[in-house]
Amino acid sequence: MYNFWMSEKIVVDKLTKYYGTFKALSNVSFNVNKGEVFGLIGPNGAGKSTTMRSMLNFIFPSKGSITINGLDSKKDYLKIRSLIGYLPGEFTTYENMNGQEYLKHILHLRKIPQNENYVKKLAKRFDLDLSKKAKNLSKGNKQKIGIIQAFCHDPEILILDEPTSGLDPLKQQVFDDLILEYKEKGKTIFISSHVLPEVEMLCDRVAIIKDGKIVAENTMSKLKSMAMNRFEVIFKNEIKEKSFGKSIGVKNVNKSGDKYIFDVEGDVNKFIKKITENKVSTFKSIEPDLEEIFLSFYKKRKRNA
Ligand code: ADP
Ligand code: MG
Repeated sequence: MYNFWMSEKIVVDKLTKYYGTFKALSNVSFNVNKGEVFGLIGPNGAGKSTTMRSMLNFIFPSKGSITINGLDSKKDYLKIRSLIGYLPGEFTTYENMNGQEYLKHILHLRKIPQNENYVKKLAKRFDLDLSKKAKNLSKGNKQKIGIIQAFCHDPEILILDEPTSGLDPLKQQVFDDLILEYKEKGKTIFISSHVLPEVEMLCDRVAIIKDGKIVAENTMSKLKSMAMNRFEVIFKNEIKEKSFGKSIGVKNVNKSGDKYIFDVEGDVNKFIKKITENKVSTFKSIEPDLEEIFLSFYKKRKRNA
């Protein structure tokens, strides 16, 4: 029992936050286990940063509790801050410091000795010049300093708020590799994003947040299978449009030129069978995007309410 409990590195329990009278978070609960990459996914303004800042006690929860590595976020926030690696949502550094100076400064504040070799290694991987002052760096390069300051003390737990914002695709790949390495080492990683494909391949589980509420929480593959499936089909023959209806799970049909776009809910077998009764020229499965996953969850919630 004890061991089971300790495997939960992050426990957020009924977290509620009011900014004045505005309720930014409402009963947010989830756990992140040791060795897991957990994604908090949601559109801008959903409450991701508020959740993450609360974990470090930069924001004081109105209700609920957060435990990180067994430590209480309100009482033990200083210990938590030195233990974890945190990348804030809008990372800024001091314009007049170069990367090296900034990292030295930040580690000094955290009372952690600098592992210069590791910092250099990380900078090299991200192709960042540590001797350039921040004011002469692009947004993407500043973000790299932010990422390095979160990783440079080799923390057991990482809390990363939209870490890849501003990074070009090649550096996103470097970031993904780094996350997967940390995961392999058994570290615990909590990551937020407003773009699903960015974190999709990294996350073991995700929670979807909208308007301060968790609307779904599951493994990545389960969430996708629960969401709407979209297929793009071009037929060689004329089809009987009426036969592609509710009875085979089709919720919606759009036609542009000779291309049909079908939205199919639930089991796709009847739909596929119907497709094969025709002559198909091209058939593509389109990954549902985040907004569509939200929508299908909202519709389900309303129906079940
Ligand atoms: P996300 O990170 O998902 O984009 P945030 O956690 O930053 O969302 O914000 C959640 C909601 O709380 C938004 O509606 C935002 O406008 C509001 N909010 C965030 N910070 C403050 C604040 N300091 N004062 C008042 N409202 C805030
Ligand atoms: Mg944010």
